Amino acid sequence: MSESLAPYASAPQRGRGRRVPEPDDGARNAYQRDRDRVIHSSAFRRLVYKTQVFINHEGDLFRTRLTHSLEVAQLARSAARRLHLHEDLVEAIALAHDLGHTPFGHAGQDALNAAWRALGLQTVALDLQGFEHNLQSLRVVDKLELRYTAFDGLNLCFETREGILKHCAARHARVLEAHEPGGVGARFLHGGQPSLEAQLCNLADEIAYCTHDIDDGLRSALLAAEVLWPLELWQRACRQAQLAPQGAHTRRELYMVLRALLSLLVHDLVSHTQAQLQQHAPANTQAVRAGPALVGFSPPVAQGLQQLKSVLMQHLYRHPQVSHSMAQGQRVVQDLFGAYLQGALPMPDGQPVTPRGVTDYIAGMTDRFALREHERLTGQRIFDA
Ligand code: MG
Repeated sequence: MSESLAPYASAPQRGRGRRVPEPDDGARNAYQRDRDRVIHSSAFRRLVYKTQVFINHEGDLFRTRLTHSLEVAQLARSAARRLHLHEDLVEAIALAHDLGHTPFGHAGQDALNAAWRALGLQTVALDLQGFEHNLQSLRVVDKLELRYTAFDGLNLCFETREGILKHCAARHARVLEAHEPGGVGARFLHGGQPSLEAQLCNLADEIAYCTHDIDDGLRSALLAAEVLWPLELWQRACRQAQLAPQGAHTRRELYMVLRALLSLLVHDLVSHTQAQLQQHAPANTQAVRAGPALVGFSPPVAQGLQQLKSVLMQHLYRHPQVSHSMAQGQRVVQDLFGAYLQGALPMPDGQPVTPRGVTDYIAGMTDRFALREHERLTGQRIFDA
């Protein structure tokens, strides 16, 4: 693969390395090792029982965070090959990108933030307050996975960690920066882009969830096909699949359309990015980090995706049934937070009974483990799992 790597791609031998230096493996490059460490982590295995949109027990065919992460890795990897970027790095980032998600999707994150607000803690310098799932993914690989005697976490390469930290609030970036000056938090304070591989994973994530949420939404019958008909991207995908954009599609026809949608998004991403790379011609990864974002969709497709996302927001993510499940999930997380902090439920040995310790513990839970703990606390079963 290294022969076909572009000058602006991340090459492990030119990377910034690991926080704790380790000897080379000999057989695998540094990003392959990172990918393998992610796959063998406990947090990765738990993704199978974490909600993407639908609570885990609502159906066996819906995406979970694990299948979502695999789809992101597949999309990112095939686009990386066409762009001559480092495939192993995008795979490592994609597989790790959602490790920090709480049970019950974004509802869990909202509940943890509400719990922190309720504590009314004063902002203490150099202390993480509240919860952000991207930052939590980084905490998982930097601190929370305990598999080595020499260090906490998985000791991943800078480039993998940079890609995992997709967004970060400035107050959290300042904490990161204090512990690791010029590290992965710096760009959220001083500007700058991450590697092209990180930029690519970000958009592969968007392609994956937009297309698979249509599939899951239609399958669950919470999303009505008619709301998709007026969408420019839906119409283009139907034309490519040689099907009428309106009217009931059979299951097979629907897959024809979804496949066309997926491939038109990936194709647009690759061709627009190729044009951008040709125009800006970054000489190396330093030039990539100092320049504008180069991985992207063409303006009409970017606009079409925005329309699609707002339809999904309005009709699926805010559907009363989804909102109801999420509100229950929020209650579970908030109840658990109080119970661990006040000692009504025991924390595992060695886990600090502090807001941060409790947050880390809850964030690591699967949906079903959180529900079991909640039942232990209240004697009530929230969902019929
Ligand atoms: Mg994701």
